[in-house]
Amino acid sequence: MRGSAQKTFRFDNTQEMSTEKVCLECGEPLKGRADKKFCDDQCRSNYNNKMNSDVTAEMRNINNILRKNRRILESVVHEDGKGKISKMKLHDKGFNFKYFTQMHTTKSGGIYKLCYDYGYLPIENDFIMVIKWGMFANTN
Ligand SMILES: [Zn+2]
Repeated sequence: MRGSAQKTFRFDNTQEMSTEKVCLECGEPLKGRADKKFCDDQCRSNYNNKMNSDVTAEMRNINNILRKNRRILESVVHEDGKGKISKMKLHDKGFNFKYFTQMHTTKSGGIYKLCYDYGYLPIENDFIMVIKWGMFANTN
């Protein structure tokens, strides 16, 4: 009799354990508040860093291209926030025209493509106008 009672107790105990919440980062059982998701700040920050990092190789490639594009645009722009370069030269620097982060149509119908905070616009004679976007927020 005693043995079977103990068995029941153990069974209940196991049930309880299987529904116990675990840390989203390391999988250790969580103790304390019911809404806890991590055992400590270290696990929370590891988890968040992972979530915010480039999750696939494809994402990493695209982000690298965008960052490179931005660097190239930055190198073209002068202190007044503007620059001009031929399309060919931009291409030679390794600029990838397929990738950009935003598009902006001006009132005059020009379409700026942006790589983060730098934008470019094709102008006459295969030249490209490059601007630091923040300095010309009202560009039209
Ligand atoms: Zn943890």
